[in-house]
Amino acid sequence: MPHRQIEFHVVPSGDRGTRAIMLAIFEEVEENRAHLVKHLGEPTALMVLELMNRKHVSGRYKEFNLLTGDRAKHGRDWILLMGLGKKKENARPYRFRDRVRSVVAIAARHFRRKHVGSFAVDDFVDYGLEASVAARLIVDGAILGLYRFERYKSKKKSVEESSPKTIYILSDCSSGELEAPIREARQSALNTCLVRDLVNTPGSDLTPLIFAKRVRASAEEIDGLECQILDADELKAERMNLHVAVGMGSDNPPCLAILRYRPKGAEAGWDLALVGKGVTFDTGGYNMKSGEQMERMYGDMAGGAAVLGAIRTIAQQHIPLNVVALIPLAENRVSGRAFLPGDILTSRKGLTVEITNTDAEGRLLLADSLTFACDTFRPHTIIDIATLTGSIVSALGHFVSGLFTHSEDEEADRLFSRKLQQSGQDTGEWLWQLPVDDDYLVQMRSDIADIENCETDRASGAGAVTAAVFLKQFIDVDKISVWAHLDIAGTSLMEQTHIYTKCPYQPKEGATGIGARLLTEFAWKMAGSS
Ligand SMILES: [Zn+2]
Repeated sequence: MPHRQIEFHVVPSGDRGTRAIMLAIFEEVEENRAHLVKHLGEPTALMVLELMNRKHVSGRYKEFNLLTGDRAKHGRDWILLMGLGKKKENARPYRFRDRVRSVVAIAARHFRRKHVGSFAVDDFVDYGLEASVAARLIVDGAILGLYRFERYKSKKKSVEESSPKTIYILSDCSSGELEAPIREARQSALNTCLVRDLVNTPGSDLTPLIFAKRVRASAEEIDGLECQILDADELKAERMNLHVAVGMGSDNPPCLAILRYRPKGAEAGWDLALVGKGVTFDTGGYNMKSGEQMERMYGDMAGGAAVLGAIRTIAQQHIPLNVVALIPLAENRVSGRAFLPGDILTSRKGLTVEITNTDAEGRLLLADSLTFACDTFRPHTIIDIATLTGSIVSALGHFVSGLFTHSEDEEADRLFSRKLQQSGQDTGEWLWQLPVDDDYLVQMRSDIADIENCETDRASGAGAVTAAVFLKQFIDVDKISVWAHLDIAGTSLMEQTHIYTKCPYQPKEGATGIGARLLTEFAWKMAGSS
């Protein structure tokens, strides 16, 4: 897979040795003068400015113009001019950084189509970025933008095309100064590619057991990760009846994969618990989905994959936090053993749950894992991530994931949600906060049990909120400090949807790998402020 092998080298900013260069340009012609002269020399720069003035070349966002260069004059065979849009569209730093990531992705793909094996890109210092920040964005853009899922293609396009093998970052910084940012961004991007691979893999090829094996393999591969798998009998012994019920309809039994990473030692307690929904295929159970709704349900483990990707990066980057990842795994199918609408189940927490909809299974898995995480690890911070509701797609579409937070301490809650939203802006994985008030419990009131797993009166709406409120009932708020729930049902898997137009480093079709980079960034911020 060529995107995995791509290398990044730092070369002096005046270097003209690379045959191809990508230069980002603003729509305002004169804004580009100094920058173009620096990299192309005056005669070629003036030619480009003239082309812009005559409107032959535009700096509109994502518009690209490839000029064949004159090697003798300015040392380049190819000059790719990539539009960044108007300066004011880039006024917010996080918007600008995301556009840098995006134009690098478009450039990398364009050079791939042209069979250009390497290209140079400058370090965006002239645009006001720090070179170390730009280096990360360049690595993100290239690796995420070149990603393809080709496991099931007999003819692999990546082999036929010559994917860029090297990107030269033109900078006045030394290789040493940019080494750590390049390495870290690369680890993070490659783990995001792993998340995409897992999410894109069909249900029959990624059962709970196969997923658990992948988790174990990560612990073998990466120093400092310890793996534990609880099988169905052990889950029963732990009273995780909601989780077991969801998985019992399948011949592929449920399990819980746990990864521990403890750089601060066992006595220090747990800073962070990450819980990711791992429904490896969701038929809906007896409340079965229609064929169309079911088509992409192999991706219903995207939260679990994100958690795996995040803890891999956290361990590889030696982030000084004790972190535990829990991935409850199950396949939601029908059979003589499957759970039924109307069943009443007793959760690990002791609350009884009336099953009003077997397709609201994600919250059942998560509920037991959240209680288990509170009891067993007593983490300071607990974050779950899940493809949980169709309702979040109605609310936020495919650009932004839903964020729900709670703490008994209002100020802690405010700071925590702010930190998560900033992590989202920094990684291009935007979050928007929605309420998680117990007032909504009225929509899940059961006549015969403590709570229903799904509101039966659809007209009440707010399905993403009630799902979050359901989860909140299974958190032990006295044992933890803050909790967040991320609903990524709209952002984890694309079907020709629009996210690509906003973030071209995301695929038009298939998994985005969302969550892994966001949670890693959050862990860095958490480590920095503790
Ligand atoms: Zn479901």
